[in-house]
Amino acid sequence: MTDISIRIIGQAGRITLQRPQALNAMTYEMCLAIEAALDEWRADPAVKLVVMDAEGDRAFCSGGDIADMYATGTAGDFSYGQKFWADEYRLNAKIFEYPKPVVSFLQGFTMGGGVGIGCHGSHRIVGDTSQIAMPEVGIGLVPDVGGTLMLALAPERLGEYLGTTASRMNASDAIFAGFADIYIPEGKWPELIAQLETTGDTVCLVPETPAEIGPIQSQMPEITKHFRGVGLSDVLTTLENDDSEFAQKTLKQLRRNSPLSMACTFEILNRLRGSNISLAKALDLEYRFTARSMEHGDFIEGIRAAIIDKDRNPKWQFADGTVPATAVSKMLLPLGENALDLQTNTSEGHGMNIGFIGLGNMGAPMAANLAAAGHNVTGFDPAGTTAEGVAVAATSVEAATGADVVITMLPNGAILRSVAAEMIPVMKSGATLLDCSTVDVESASAVAADAQAAGLLAADAPVSGGIGGAAGGTLTFMAGGSEAAFATVSPLFEIMGQKAVHCGASGAGQAAKICNNMVLGATMIATCEAFALADKLGLDRQKMFDVVSTSSGYSWSMNAYCPAPGVGPTSPADNDYAPGFAAELMLKDLGLSQQAASAVDADTPMGELAHALYKKFVEDEGGLGKDFSAMLPRFEKRNREV
Ligand code: NAD
Repeated sequence: MTDISIRIIGQAGRITLQRPQALNAMTYEMCLAIEAALDEWRADPAVKLVVMDAEGDRAFCSGGDIADMYATGTAGDFSYGQKFWADEYRLNAKIFEYPKPVVSFLQGFTMGGGVGIGCHGSHRIVGDTSQIAMPEVGIGLVPDVGGTLMLALAPERLGEYLGTTASRMNASDAIFAGFADIYIPEGKWPELIAQLETTGDTVCLVPETPAEIGPIQSQMPEITKHFRGVGLSDVLTTLENDDSEFAQKTLKQLRRNSPLSMACTFEILNRLRGSNISLAKALDLEYRFTARSMEHGDFIEGIRAAIIDKDRNPKWQFADGTVPATAVSKMLLPLGENALDLQTNTSEGHGMNIGFIGLGNMGAPMAANLAAAGHNVTGFDPAGTTAEGVAVAATSVEAATGADVVITMLPNGAILRSVAAEMIPVMKSGATLLDCSTVDVESASAVAADAQAAGLLAADAPVSGGIGGAAGGTLTFMAGGSEAAFATVSPLFEIMGQKAVHCGASGAGQAAKICNNMVLGATMIATCEAFALADKLGLDRQKMFDVVSTSSGYSWSMNAYCPAPGVGPTSPADNDYAPGFAAELMLKDLGLSQQAASAVDADTPMGELAHALYKKFVEDEGGLGKDFSAMLPRFEKRNREV
């Protein structure tokens, strides 16, 4: 192949991209050739390190070659693109994890797919012509090839800025943002490459200091100020309300790009940040988007406008910049059996046997997501509820027998204890009992101790995110238990959720959960009483939402689960307050936090009052069986004296 030269020189495996006329854009064949070379050199003692460079002075690599994707995608064949991305991402992961040094020399443009091969190695060298960027949102994709990992790890909100504006970084900025390691003037590169080949040692790579700090770094205060919002609409709003040169220029950049792609970029970075951030997770999330991008995203239209018709006037979906949360979730839902598989030839037979006990509002969609991801799930619920793709067992014992992992999603600690007492004796040795219900810390710890005594692993991992999060696979898990238990169930958290935090030993997950829900109970009451007050002040509910949801009063209760019917995203209020999250479950959680507060002598007056209000609501005011947001009609009826 003439587009790439692969050879061994001295002690170095050498890869040179040689398509300078196409800015070294990477074709599918080049991608496979690089992977084959890396596989061959991994265990070859003659190869001490790998050196990658490119011909011509304009670009190391300007991206992946997308023309073929357009041709196949417009013909309704999405599989070519999916295969290209899956194979390319596997290569990116191989470079990232390569056991030998990988040195890349990044002159001129290094963009998109070029970042994927040039910016995951151990020594990433930049010089005075270097310009590095993730410009995918401009063609209806999201930053991919593992780029979201670096964006998520970049200082403050720089990742959001770079990923949505597609701004180009010079050498200094690229080092600041974590896309490069070492600045060395380009005139010295040929000699350095020769030394690397001869010695097989990277000691010759002595960093120098770029002349001055980069323009992007010097704009960090503005970037932080404008990009710290929750999502795209927040950022657009603050920029629109600022006349500064930075704000106007940034707005112009954002308006060129696909709103759906930008909103999904925010969501991916948000999901990635946290304790279990990894390249594999970044690539998996990116692939969820790219695999759907031709059929449901803006990718075909993006390429048409950029390189086919070259009119630079793409007709994006959601062109006004308002992207509904459902559109983002749809692009980022788990792909089930079509999920990215970074290990070639192991696509078969890696599903776990999972028993799922409690197929209620939360359990059913969680179990369905696990089944859709290729696991063998057998469920049980005495109410006779089922879930898509889940086999039904006649008892919890039947569902638990032979399972690798048993997950419980039950109403309370007493039920958990009785169900666990039946199942633990029949579970196979070494299996894991994972309780995701919200229960008291004592029940969680007692069940975990019984499970461990029987030779099982155990974790308590209650969730946050509600039924929407359960259905969309975007829950947050707060886990307690051993490292081994956490590691075993982490792949399942990645399917059912967007974030899992290992909070400590058994019971720590429940401790985190009751603190979270104490905040939630109090904010829901505050949100409901504010709507009732606004009504009486003659304020329109939609206006109230428009203000509070983008002002300092915003919260999950207001923004994602608005208790006022017809206002905000769809919530139980729009379904006559059918739960959702039942008021009695909120009462249970507030009771748990008060129980815990009294056990450790913590002062929680707001939590105490919220508990008293929900108790009255559930026990005396008809709240039983309603969603916990049904507090709003309660407040509507009341006056100050009541
Ligand atoms: P739910 O009442 O809809 O579901 C609980 C299910 O458990 C029911 O279907 C019930 O039939 C089943 N069940 C009861 N006894 C059982 C037994 N002995 N064996 C097997 N199954 C049994 O409740 P949910 O909303 O799905 O909540 C489940 C758990 O998740 C609770 O602990 C809750 O606090 C917590 N949670 C709920 C939400 C939410 O928004 N709904 C959010 C976070 C956490």
